[in-house]
Amino acid sequence: MDGMQSALQDRGLTVTNLPEKGRCLFTNKDFSPGEVIISQEPYVCVPNNSSSNSRCDGCFASSNLKKCSACQVVWYCGSGCQKLEWKLHRVECQALSRLDKEKRKSVTPSIRLMVKLYLRRKLQSEMVIPTTATDNYSLVEALVSHISDIHEKQLVLYAQMANLVNSILQWPEINIKEIAENFSKLACNAHTICDSELRPLGTGLYPVISIINHSCLPNAVLVFEGRVAVVRAVQHMPKGAEVLISYIETAGSTMTRKKALTEQYLFTCTCPRCIKVGQYDDIREGAILEGYRCKDDGCSGFLLRESDGKGFTCQQCGLVRSKEEIKTLASEITALSSKTLASTSCNNHQEALSMYKMIEKLQRKLCHSFSISLMQTREKLIKILMELEDWREALAYCRLTIPVYQRVYPQFHPLLGLQFYTCGKLEWFLGDTENAIKSLTKAADILRITHGTNSPFMKELIIKLEEARAEASYKLSTKNE
Ligand SMILES: [Zn+2]
Ligand SMILES: [Zn+2]
Ligand SMILES: [Zn+2]
Ligand SMILES: [Zn+2]
Repeated sequence: MDGMQSALQDRGLTVTNLPEKGRCLFTNKDFSPGEVIISQEPYVCVPNNSSSNSRCDGCFASSNLKKCSACQVVWYCGSGCQKLEWKLHRVECQALSRLDKEKRKSVTPSIRLMVKLYLRRKLQSEMVIPTTATDNYSLVEALVSHISDIHEKQLVLYAQMANLVNSILQWPEINIKEIAENFSKLACNAHTICDSELRPLGTGLYPVISIINHSCLPNAVLVFEGRVAVVRAVQHMPKGAEVLISYIETAGSTMTRKKALTEQYLFTCTCPRCIKVGQYDDIREGAILEGYRCKDDGCSGFLLRESDGKGFTCQQCGLVRSKEEIKTLASEITALSSKTLASTSCNNHQEALSMYKMIEKLQRKLCHSFSISLMQTREKLIKILMELEDWREALAYCRLTIPVYQRVYPQFHPLLGLQFYTCGKLEWFLGDTENAIKSLTKAADILRITHGTNSPFMKELIIKLEEARAEASYKLSTKNE
């Protein structure tokens, strides 16, 4: 631990133990927006592989993959990644190869993550894999597991998974209870590794990054460059500030965020947004993001439930929507949504498109215009329309989501930047250079802070923006001639 403390000291950081919060990461110097606070390679990681979708174990690439011929479980994009992983996979491969075909199918990404955790610990203790102050098992040991707060059902599941890990490793001295506890540790500490556009690729354990606490109004953001976790400041952080990232989707009412945090991370958030629970501002925000729209189409008021339970009253104009009307619409949407989920598994985009359009229409009738669920439906429509290459309609929905994104996310949020990026790409593609430049500039201004400027993803964005600007000035010069 002291080794880690001095390694962090050199980076302008310090770990402090607070009685009410446990370990916290604090700054020892100022950090400016966009500056990297800390980056870390995973202690262990695995791609989210399934039978239909595989990724390279080294870099998470999904093309040109070859299966490891010995275990038939793990994939690599080439000999480079295979060599990089070999010290660990050599022993993992032996263990996996012992299993019969049926059992190999039960080796899910979470099981593999645990197997790799034990194997890496062993290889580090045997000094086959070197340890450093920020890469050693004692940092994993120091992570919280919340095991005493876990539901009985979940404990049984962890015990079953621990037995499977035991049968793969076949170590006589292994402690099954400890494996089960480590599953609980992974559940509240492991991070979903995403690509630059925040699509999930895998799971990794980053014991130093895990020290960073949560806030629904964070001053830093976690993104991944390949499998390296990178935390950047999204606002000016003075010396002595606690580094805070968000563990959850922060767009949502306090109740929704609270539910997500207790269910997955087993703690109660006391951030500046959460302590407002029950106050007028918080109730209003919840009613806008997750509540109903006014009966009058032209009114943007938010609705609150009447104390007699008969309806919902607009807080701006006083019009009342009856409980029955709301209930009918809501159940229509629920029925349609479950039908859509069941039928879209067959990948029929046209069918999915018309169903989500119906849902969107009903949600427009029911929900406030800043509703999160309406935004999510439009998000799905954009994805489907892109698949169908209907750029014009995709752009129309994308533009509708922007004001909602601006409301629900802080100024420098990766999702807001990515939405401007999508908008800009579509505008440029459709020949609307002027608006494309505006959108791409907004995207670049945000993503420069959250993603840095060196990743291939950001370089591509900056090139696109330069091309769009060149095109615009060319158009202008030909017009003036
Ligand atoms: Zn690779
Ligand atoms: Zn293998
Ligand atoms: Zn909070
Ligand atoms: Zn109204």
